[in-house]
Amino acid sequence: MTEHAVVIAGGGPTGMMLAAELALAKVEVAVVERRPDHLLAGSRAGGFHSRTIEVLDQRGVADRFLAEGQPVQIATFGTTVMDMSDFPTRHPYTLALFQNKIERIMADWVAELPVHIYYGCDARGFAQDDTGVDVRLSDGEPLRARYLVGCDGGRSLIRKEAGIEFPGWDATRSNLIAEVETTEEPPPGVRHDAAGVHGLHRLEDGKTVRVVTTEQRLGPGSEPTLRDLSEALITAFGTDFGIHNPTWISRFTDMTRQAATYRAGRVLLAGDAAHVHYPAGGQGIGLGVQDAVNLGWKLAQVVDGTSPESLLDTYHAERHPVTARVLRYTMAQTTLQRHDDRTKALVDVVSELASMDEPRKRLAGLVSGLDIHYDLGDGHPLLGRRMPDVDLITADGPLRVFELLHDAKPVLLNLGQPDVIGITPWADRVRLIDATYRGEWELPVLGVVSAPTAVLIRPDGYVAWVGDGTDVGLTDALATWFGPLTAA
Ligand SMILES: Cc1cc2nc3c(=O)[nH]c(=O)nc-3n(C[C@H](O)[C@H](O)[C@H](O)COP(=O)(O)OP(=O)(O)OC[C@H]3O[C@@H](n4cnc5c(N)ncnc54)[C@H](O)[C@@H]3O)c2cc1C
Repeated sequence: MTEHAVVIAGGGPTGMMLAAELALAKVEVAVVERRPDHLLAGSRAGGFHSRTIEVLDQRGVADRFLAEGQPVQIATFGTTVMDMSDFPTRHPYTLALFQNKIERIMADWVAELPVHIYYGCDARGFAQDDTGVDVRLSDGEPLRARYLVGCDGGRSLIRKEAGIEFPGWDATRSNLIAEVETTEEPPPGVRHDAAGVHGLHRLEDGKTVRVVTTEQRLGPGSEPTLRDLSEALITAFGTDFGIHNPTWISRFTDMTRQAATYRAGRVLLAGDAAHVHYPAGGQGIGLGVQDAVNLGWKLAQVVDGTSPESLLDTYHAERHPVTARVLRYTMAQTTLQRHDDRTKALVDVVSELASMDEPRKRLAGLVSGLDIHYDLGDGHPLLGRRMPDVDLITADGPLRVFELLHDAKPVLLNLGQPDVIGITPWADRVRLIDATYRGEWELPVLGVVSAPTAVLIRPDGYVAWVGDGTDVGLTDALATWFGPLTAA
């Protein structure tokens, strides 16, 4: 039986990000992916928001995505576009980039790392025991792993086999999405009616038209046809624009569910396998990437014996509430897409509120992911929040904070007197950098906060401890996050 330290079921955006995180942490990892290669049928998602771009920047690969995408201000609530260009980040925008391109860029990155991918192979089930998990495949021998992560999308077999509950809300609305050719020129922009939103958009090749239309009634579970699409367009626009030659037709709904637990023993869930929602607001890829980046370093430390297994429980504790909040936003945003007279009145009121500065900042903080706050206790506002990518002066010259995170290792940034903070017992696990930073400390939504004298930054870019001129609490934080001094 072939053995791997970690097996990931599913090589979509979440599975690929997790594989990269584990490989960077030098954990042996394999991905089992049903598709024969990374190519995706259809364009699917339209891009991702600021915090996801930052996370990729932390690994030194954001430029690959930025080179192919288009920065835009499209974070919306109601009908208000919430401009976030004043947010204190190097990426105060949404990146418009279709998912098929996102997955190609990710696959190219993962191919540079020591990740084994079993393409064209289905995970069919698993059995776990005290020391590992046997993963049954559609093809060939089972795989043995210390841990199995289900990144196998919304219909996750891993979630079902693990017996993890998936509570939430059934679908009330369905949409058809397709790529077709048309004989008539489609109208510009999107149209809202009592059912929801409808739009046709010509793609770069000048020939293909991407169609999204809301069905008048909740559609069946079966695969949609060109005829279904034609009928839906005629209802919404009075014409189907002569659609023909479909290369992709799919249906999605507003079903909203979240796994009751993200871990069952040696089996974990991430991305759509752990949560599904309507795509309004463009949150799915970002949630999955951020799950992966939260879990990756923790799983690596447990696998290599640096940390006890209990570190894995912080993955659920941190990511579940953050995602639950985002799911509520997507449900609200979904409701606001209906424009019957009464809902339209609500949309107008909400849109007016969302255009005011304070509500705009709060909502844009949520949509962009820049306001994420993991509850790591009371203390300085930076605690549990993302470390800003400030410009540092170090003994090696000028550096951005995110450059220090490229290899996915923790960093203790000493911004006070050099050599005051000692971390000798953890020196092989945590990099200590003496640096100066003279600018303001401004956080998205919160504004300017007091300058810290030292910051302990986790590999995912979140702050685990903040110094105020002393090292009180540092030893505890190091032991909590980067393992006790006697190996687990
Ligand atoms: C119309 C639409 C528009 C969207 N727009 C946006 C947007 O603008 N922004 C955004 O962030 N998100 C958007 N989303 C959501 C986004 O597409 C998903 O959230 C995202 O793809 C989730 O990534 P994932 O890797 O968790 O799951 P998936 O992308 O579903 O990947 C799961 C992978 O697992 C594989 N797999 C499944 N079962 C098995 C098995 N048993 N064995 C082996 N492999 C398996 C599948 O082949 C797939 O490659 C949109 C979604 C839709 C439908």
